[in-house]
Amino acid sequence: MSDGTKVFHCKDVGYDCEWRLEGTSEDEMLPVIEEHAAEVHNLTHFKAEAEENVREAIRRNG
Ligand SMILES: [Zn+2]
Repeated sequence: MSDGTKVFHCKDVGYDCEWRLEGTSEDEMLPVIEEHAAEVHNLTHFKAEAEENVREAIRRNG
């Protein structure tokens, strides 16, 4: 049973970065992750492939 808390670690998608985010759903977390990626990693266009990687990383930690 999950308590509903999901965690995303930036390094799980390949960045040398200690940033992490907790949330209750992938859809809630994705925009925040996208903003972080844009600001910190210069990833201005969040491609579908990157989004899938992020969702995978969240699932592994959820
Ligand atoms: Zn990061």
